[in-house]
Amino acid sequence: MKSTAYKGYQSFNYLESGVDYRSFELAAEIDRVRSRPVEVSKDQEERVQRLLTEHFAIALHDHCFIVPKDFGDLADYRRQGRDWTGYAGMARSGLDAVFDCLMDGTATITSKAGWKWDDIIYDLGMRLSDIAHQDFIIRGETVMDIKRAKANGQIAFIASLEAATPIENEVDRLDILYGLGIRSSGIAYSEANTLGSGLRESRDGGLTEFGRQAVRRMNKLGIAIDISHSGDQTSLDTIEASEKPIFITHAGARALWNTKRMALSASRPRPTRRSRRSTRGTRSRASWSTSSTAPISWASITLRSDRTRCSAITSASTTTSRSSSRSGPRTGSRPSKRSSSSTGSRIRRRHSRTSSAGW
Ligand SMILES: [Zn+2]
Repeated sequence: MKSTAYKGYQSFNYLESGVDYRSFELAAEIDRVRSRPVEVSKDQEERVQRLLTEHFAIALHDHCFIVPKDFGDLADYRRQGRDWTGYAGMARSGLDAVFDCLMDGTATITSKAGWKWDDIIYDLGMRLSDIAHQDFIIRGETVMDIKRAKANGQIAFIASLEAATPIENEVDRLDILYGLGIRSSGIAYSEANTLGSGLRESRDGGLTEFGRQAVRRMNKLGIAIDISHSGDQTSLDTIEASEKPIFITHAGARALWNTKRMALSASRPRPTRRSRRSTRGTRSRASWSTSSTAPISWASITLRSDRTRCSAITSASTTTSRSSSRSGPRTGSRPSKRSSSSTGSRIRRRHSRTSSAGW
């Protein structure tokens, strides 16, 4: 196991339980479910350890909080707005950096429906306050932060959102989110918002004019765009509108698993049951480049399908952009405009009746 700088801190140790906050019995971070050992040879084990030592391990999408042991307490736990970060579990992960998507739509501190601006800011501030009181997890806002975390046995916590719903019609709120540390955002989650449509919508009107404005602002700021929960047309429009490569951090191929969450060329055949079983859970890799002072975004992390050239392991399934999905990292030249139909042939999502829009 990778050695880390973790010394046993638990969330909100700087406060008094029962006085400063209501305590809940929380689920175990480690061994809550039985691990399944994977038999590997000595050479394979050494290779894994070498990869973890020599390369960056980055999760592009995660929620590193601990939930109550009794899941029925989740609503009250959430209402308090105080999420426990799973420091001990993170210390076991082997990661150097994690894009943490916070509570997202379950940030229901003032509302029942979630995604409110006030709740998102409350959630972000509370997590960062706790993180500021320990020295294992550091705030990740630049590539240098990730390099520093790896060098010191720490993990860089990169704050992210799975939808831009909380900005409503205020594009300047993206600047505020960037200032507070957000480095990746989705367009829409399940429901449509002022930017575009999410996966639950039966009709997807595509990226709105405000959505295009928001995409341009995220490009300028250095906020990576993730379309894992966006509708098909909204996804295609976003790829077309963005000057930078787009993330799809937690989805897969629709031919392998026929739900809206997945993306695939329309020309691919439907899968057999065997192919579904054998290919679910596969992981892609990310290459690592650029200068140490660059912001964390498209410029620093470019996913590739070429496994022989990978230098970081991520939890992402796929990524796509107008220029990089086939030919590797961008070279800086602006790609030629591609029609949405040709772009769509690469990632088009077939509509299905099955809806899956969880985390
Ligand atoms: Zn998600």
